Amino acid sequence: MTVYVLDPWYPKAIARARKLFSKVILHTDPDFAGWQQKARAILVRGSSITAFDVAKCPNLVAIGKHGVGIEKIDQAACAERNIKILNTPGANAQAVAEVVVALALSVARNIPAIYTRQVAGGEAVHKQTCSGLTLHRKTVGVVGMGNIGRCVARILQRGFDAEIVAYDPYMPASASTDGPWSEIPHRRVDSVAEMLGIVDVLTVHVPLTAETRDMIAYQELCSMKSTAIVLNGSRGGIVNEDDLERALREGKIWGAGLDAHEQEPPTRERYGKLWELPNVVSTPHIGAATEDAQLASAIGAVDNLYNYLVT
Ligand code: NAD
Repeated sequence: MTVYVLDPWYPKAIARARKLFSKVILHTDPDFAGWQQKARAILVRGSSITAFDVAKCPNLVAIGKHGVGIEKIDQAACAERNIKILNTPGANAQAVAEVVVALALSVARNIPAIYTRQVAGGEAVHKQTCSGLTLHRKTVGVVGMGNIGRCVARILQRGFDAEIVAYDPYMPASASTDGPWSEIPHRRVDSVAEMLGIVDVLTVHVPLTAETRDMIAYQELCSMKSTAIVLNGSRGGIVNEDDLERALREGKIWGAGLDAHEQEPPTRERYGKLWELPNVVSTPHIGAATEDAQLASAIGAVDNLYNYLVT
């Protein structure tokens, strides 16, 4: 069986694909041209697969997707043609969670702002001007108890004795005693509003959908403690960026850590004003950018595709 690889792919995972499949054709290979007519199986990473693309692929049976997000693949068009989309949930969860926790600590202790003051020279920075927040035994609100949300919850619960409050309407009723959720003792709430006033850290780990867009906007931010930290390591647009900037300027919350922005990669032109604030820490979607996570996602997509097609 031949697999067409539409994007740059991790070489070790390509080597594995070459062992599993009879032929692997990379997007840089001469015989890649006209893949739409020929392909039964493809591997994608950042490429979009639109309904138009699907219509041009009469033989397509399965798509192996590097990573979790499948919003660039027209899922309805695939479902109509019974084309299976195989992503790699969980493969990068620990890596993303580590960045989210790093953002939480950076914001809580003002580390980037203090470091910037220090390296700028001039007057020495005195510790008396660097008071921050401890995360120990704080209440953490997790919106979206999927792979990444649970991983963040686990790190903060085990490492910081955090109390976890969770909102995820798609968790089963038995979540506190059954399945992967039960490994993380949590108090479940039925709405985001229910957790806003009680959490010290709010972290969102949901896909961007019509339901989650602007889930955290000005009104929500104003309902939080003035010492609260808001984290978005999922997708830009879930925390409304203009509202967040306003709330931070008005001192409604302590600070914010963002690894996801509406415009990616984020630029100074778009985010300069937000970045001027000393209590914002922003990174350009680096959550999954570790060798371990990339390799796990790349190999996971290859294996998923193989298992689906062969078994
Ligand atoms: P997941 O599918 O395992 O978990 C998502 C969870 O959100 C699910 O439990 C689902 O029930 C829940 N959910 C869906 N709609 C909801 C709603 N309206 N309210 C509350 N909960 C809702 O996905 P994941 O792997 O945990 O990824 C979570 C997010 O992180 C995704 O948006 C993903 O694209 C993003 N992500 C970011 C990075 C990064 O580098 N920063 C990397 C990978 C994924």
